[in-house]
Amino acid sequence: MAKKIITSVIPKELPLIPLRNLVVFPNLVVPLFVGRQNSIKALESAMKSEHTIALVAQRGPEKENPTEKDLYPIGTVANVMQELKLPDGTAKALVEGISRIRIKSFVSDKPYFMIEYELLRDEYENDIEFEALMRTVVSLFEKCASLGKPISQEALMAAMNIEEAGRLADYVCFNLNLKIEEKQQVLATLEPKERLKLTSGFLEREVRILEIGQKIQSRVKDQMSRTQREYLLREQLKAIQNELGDIDEQATEGEDLAKKIKAAKMPAEVEEKALKELERYNRTSPVSAESSVIRTYLEWLIGLPWKSKSEKEIILKKALAILNKDHYGLDKVKQRVLEHLAVRKLSKKLKGPILCFAGPPGVGKTSIGKSIAEALGREFIRISLGGVRDEAEIRGHRRTYVGALPGRIIQSINQAKSASPVFMMDEIDKVGADFRGDPTSALLEVLDPEQNNSFSDHYLEVPYDLSDVFFITTANILDTVPPALRDRMEIIYFPGYTEEEKLNIAKEFLVPKQLDAHGLTATQLSFTDKALLEVIRKYTREAGVRQLERLIATICRQVARRVVEKKTAIAKVGEAKISSFLGTGKYNYGVVEEKDQVGVATGLAWTEAGGDIIKVEASVLKGKGKLTLTGHLGKVMQESAQAALSYTRSRSSFLKIKTDFYYKNDLHIHVPAGAIPKDGPSAGVTMASALVSALTKQKMRKDVCMTGEITLRGHVLPVGGIKEKLLAAHRAGLKTVILPLENKAELDEVPQHVIKELDVVFVKHMDEVLDAALVKSNVKMHRVK
Ligand code: ADP
Repeated sequence: MAKKIITSVIPKELPLIPLRNLVVFPNLVVPLFVGRQNSIKALESAMKSEHTIALVAQRGPEKENPTEKDLYPIGTVANVMQELKLPDGTAKALVEGISRIRIKSFVSDKPYFMIEYELLRDEYENDIEFEALMRTVVSLFEKCASLGKPISQEALMAAMNIEEAGRLADYVCFNLNLKIEEKQQVLATLEPKERLKLTSGFLEREVRILEIGQKIQSRVKDQMSRTQREYLLREQLKAIQNELGDIDEQATEGEDLAKKIKAAKMPAEVEEKALKELERYNRTSPVSAESSVIRTYLEWLIGLPWKSKSEKEIILKKALAILNKDHYGLDKVKQRVLEHLAVRKLSKKLKGPILCFAGPPGVGKTSIGKSIAEALGREFIRISLGGVRDEAEIRGHRRTYVGALPGRIIQSINQAKSASPVFMMDEIDKVGADFRGDPTSALLEVLDPEQNNSFSDHYLEVPYDLSDVFFITTANILDTVPPALRDRMEIIYFPGYTEEEKLNIAKEFLVPKQLDAHGLTATQLSFTDKALLEVIRKYTREAGVRQLERLIATICRQVARRVVEKKTAIAKVGEAKISSFLGTGKYNYGVVEEKDQVGVATGLAWTEAGGDIIKVEASVLKGKGKLTLTGHLGKVMQESAQAALSYTRSRSSFLKIKTDFYYKNDLHIHVPAGAIPKDGPSAGVTMASALVSALTKQKMRKDVCMTGEITLRGHVLPVGGIKEKLLAAHRAGLKTVILPLENKAELDEVPQHVIKELDVVFVKHMDEVLDAALVKSNVKMHRVK
C-alpha cells in the first residue's frame, strides 16, 4: 500500500541506505528498490520520523554488507515520497533528491547506518561563461537526441528550461547512461561550473560514439540494401527465365566452367586468374555483352593445352628412315636435321637455336618439317607470316577491343591441342613493319629459347610457356630477314633441284603419290622418263617441284576420267602425249644458239625459280655516242652496263677498237624476254663481251656462257647462285662456263656429273673472258683453270 509522505524539516541525524547501482541527484525523482534487510530497516525508521533519508552509493556493488569505508563520502538527502511493501519482504519507494550532503560521521552502523551530515548547496551564479556552458550542454544534449539517443521530448524541454547551472548538469547526467563512478564524480563536483564542464565532456564523448555508431549502421544498411536489391533482381530474373523455360543457365554454366578450370591443369597463377574471372562472370548478368566476353576468355583459357606431352625417345635411325621415306636426295639437309635432333637428345636443357629452312618454294621445306614431327611423335602446325605487318597478329589484341582474340601463335597451339607441337612459321622473310607495330619484336620473343617460356599474348594476359614447342621457320631469301631474327636461327639451305633430281623425285614420290590420291594404279597410268623430263622442261620453271606435282595431278585427273568412262584402261604416257594432256609447253629454256654470232653473248642468271641462261645483244649504229639499254633492266644492271662500256673504252687500243667509237656511234644493249625484270651485277661480263664482240665484229662462241661482276678496270668479281647457274648451263647444252675465280669453292655444291660435262673456266679479268669467249680471239691471255 502506498503512502504519500511529505517532508518538512530535515533532522540532524539520518538513517542511510547504501545504493548499489544508483546515484540519486538533488531535485530528481527516482524509484528505489530496497532488498537488503538493513536498508529496509533504515527506510522504515525514516518513515517513522521525517521521511528523509540519506542515499549514498557504495563502491563495489557486489558487496552485501558494505562497511563505512565502502561508502562514497558524498551522497544525497532525499525525501521518501512513497513507500510500498512487496509480498516478498522487499520494498519499493519513490524518492526525490533534496540536496547533496557530505557524511560528517557515523553515529551507528547497526542495524543500519546512522550518520551526521553536512548539507552542500549549489551557489547560484549567472555570468556569461555560465550561459555559454549551459547552452553548449543543452545543444549537445539535443544533438544526442537527434543522433538517436532515447531522450524524450519532455526531457529536452525540461533541460532547456532549467536556469541553474548545477541543476542542469545534474539533470543531463541523470539522463545519460553514465557509469556509477562517473555519476558519483558529477555528484561530488560541487562547483557548478566544473560540473557543467564535466557534463559537456561526457556529452561530447556520447555524441562521438553515437556518430560512429550511426556511420557503421549506415554502411551496414547500404550493403544490406545493395545485396538485397541484387538478390531481388536476380530472383526476378530467375523467375522470368523459369517462365521462359531456360532455367538459370548461367548458374549451371558457372559451375560447369569451374569444373573445367580445375580439370584444365593450368599453372597456379593462371588458374587463379581464371577463377577470378569466373567470379566476375557469375556476378554479371547473363544477357550483358560483358558476360559473353568473359565467357569467351574463360573458354580460351580452358581450351589451351597447358601441359606438354612427354617426348618420344628420339631414335636417330628411325628418324632418318622417316625422312628418307618421303624425300629423295636432300642429303645435306637430312644430315643437318639429324645433327640437330641428336643435340636435342643429348642435352634436354640446352635449348638449341631455332631451325630455319631457307630455299625457293616447292623444294620440300614443309614436307621435311612434317617428317620431323612424325619422327618426334608430335603434332605439326604451320602458319604463314607472309604479309604480317601487325604485332597484334602475333600477340593478339587486348580484351578491351571488341571481338578481340589471341594472336596466331596461341590460336595455332590451341588448334593443335598440344603444348609441344612442331610449329612451322613460313615466309619469315616476308614479315613487314608499319605503323601498327613491328611483328619482329614479338617474333623475337617467340623464337628466343631464353624468353619463350613466358610468352605474353595481349589477349590471354597470362604468360604461356612455348619452350617445349619445336619451332621451324622457312624463308625464300635470307637477305630480308631482320638480322636480330637471323642470329637466333640455325639456317639450313635447301638448294633447288637439278633436272635429274626432279625426275627422280617425280618417279619415286610425286607420281606414286598422285596415283594414290586419284585412285589409280601403276598399270593404269605410267610415265616414261622422257615424258617427265618434257613436263619438267617445257611446262615448269621452278627450283622446286610444286608445279611439277600439280601437272602430274592434272594428267592423273584426266586419266581417271577416262578410266571411269572406260575409254582406255591403260595409259603409258610418253613424251609425245604430254601436249595432249597439258597443251603446248609454256617455257622454252634457253638453248644453245645455232651458230656463232657477232654481238650476242650468253650469260647466266639466278632467278627465284633457279638458274637460267640469258642472251645479251649489243649493236653499234651510226650516231652520237648514245647508250640505250632495253629489256626491263634494274638499276644495278644498268650501272653494270655503264661499267662495261667504260671498260671497253679504256681498253679500246688493246682490243683494237677505234678510240672514237663512243662518240661516233650509238650503242644499244638489249636483254630479250623484256617482260621479266632483271637486276643484279652478275651480267657485267656478259654485257662487256657482247659490246666488244659488236665493236670488233668478232664472233662469240655459241657454246660459251659466263657470269661475273665487272669493275671499271676489268676485274671480275664473284657472284651468287653458282650451283643454279651451272645447272642451267648444263640443261641448255652449253659446253664452257666462265666463272669468277673467287667462286671456285662453290663448285663443291654442284653435282659431279654436271661438272664433268662442262668446261669450267675461272677468270680474274675481263681480258681472260674475251680470250675464252671470242671465236678467234686476238686477246691472248693466260687462262687459269
Ligand atoms: P616448300 O615448303 O619448300 O615450299 P613443300 O614441302 O610444300 O615445299 O614441297 C612441295 C611438294 O614437293 C610436296 O608435295 C613435297 O612432298 C614434294 N617434294 C619436295 N621435295 C621433295 C623431295 N626431295 N622428295 C620428295 N618429294 C619432295
